[in-house]
Amino acid sequence: MDKIQMTTPLVEMDGDEMTRVLWQIIKDELLLPFVDLKTEYYDLGLKHRDETDDQVTVDSAEATKKYGVAVKCATITPNAARVEEYGLKEMWKSPNGTIRAILDGTVFRTPISVKGITPNVRTWEKPITIARHAYGDVYKATEMKVDRPGKAYLYFEGEDGTVEKELIHEFKGPGILQGQHNLNASIESFARSCFTYALDTKQELWFAAKDTISKKYDHTFKDIFQEIFDKEYKARFDKAGITYFYTLIDDAVARVMKGKGGIIWACKNYDGDVMSDMISSAAGSLAMMTSVLVSPDGYYEYEAAHGTVQRHYYKHLKGEETSTNSIATIFAWTGALRKRGELDSLPELSAFADRLEKASLQVIESGRMTKDLALLTEIEKPVVLNSQDFIRAIREEL
Ligand code: NAP
Ligand code: MG
Repeated sequence: MDKIQMTTPLVEMDGDEMTRVLWQIIKDELLLPFVDLKTEYYDLGLKHRDETDDQVTVDSAEATKKYGVAVKCATITPNAARVEEYGLKEMWKSPNGTIRAILDGTVFRTPISVKGITPNVRTWEKPITIARHAYGDVYKATEMKVDRPGKAYLYFEGEDGTVEKELIHEFKGPGILQGQHNLNASIESFARSCFTYALDTKQELWFAAKDTISKKYDHTFKDIFQEIFDKEYKARFDKAGITYFYTLIDDAVARVMKGKGGIIWACKNYDGDVMSDMISSAAGSLAMMTSVLVSPDGYYEYEAAHGTVQRHYYKHLKGEETSTNSIATIFAWTGALRKRGELDSLPELSAFADRLEKASLQVIESGRMTKDLALLTEIEKPVVLNSQDFIRAIREEL
């Protein structure tokens, strides 16, 4: 059989622990036999990040800017325990945070639907995609505890020496204070990423906030979205037959619960944090979720939404059998290959990605699955496969 050809390399970001184990099996069993795989390889495993003083993470993000499409394995974000475990020089920052800061983008997460695992919300016929703004608000807030009577002000001092001052509250007794901010530039790139992704996937886009209460803060989000939409995207949306609309966050929640799905729901940072966990739990599991970072300049980084599955890895190291779900990691590869196929006009490559996804889901639908799914499925007497056999079953199906 002739292998499917590629012209531009994918930026391959290898990672840690159990997902690193799955990464290699996926390449060996599902990709290399069928595709003349071209990648530029970056080892983001914690050991190599430490050896390169985390330069490899920066280099991989820069390569993504050069080539346009990356696929990333889950990576350890070090904490104190990891510094000791790996004897690290430093508690390196989250690679996802570093990459996001360089590419500047929005993370889109969508549940993967499969027959036999029904969403808890009966009306959902198609998956709901959450687009989460990943900058500012409560995540970059300054807080204070007030322990005595007094006046609190919102205070801005311009570089030119001008001052603006607003009374927040006159405290008669103890209380609490919080100061939040966001940046127009960040909101603009969030909006553009959402509009671009809606066009890419031909889905309706909703954006929701609370502008009726927050007349300056949330209203600015609403205004920026509307302005950019009218100026840059409306004509293309009309042509694609899709719509954009803004609504209040409480109205959006009510509509989502009663709707059929198949939409993109753009959320402010906190809303996106909360709502993406709601959507993924209602849909099944984090291992059944795609995740892609879309930059406003049109760079794409595909990954799994879950972590490195440390508990399974330690079992694996002890020589015990694991049943780790590789679907999200497989779909990171297929997402990246399909996008490469689209950008390079290689329909064969995109079709391969489609076939691999179909084969993966068919294995589950035939009743063969990993343990996490066996606990959820309505399929009677599912066959539980170990990590490797699950991937081999997909290969046979493919
Ligand atoms: P995790 O890897 O998401 O796993 C938490 C638990 O969820 C697992 O123990 C397992 O439950 C279940 N699970 C997650 N993915 C699964 C899969 N593919 N198949 C089957 N079960 C799955 O989170 P963690 O173990 O708390 O974190 C490990 C490391 O991942 C951390 O060092 C963290 O920094 C990193 N992390 C990385 C990313 C990323 O790179 N995108 C994201 C999050 C976390 P059971 O044990 O009950 O089977
Ligand atoms: Mg969260």
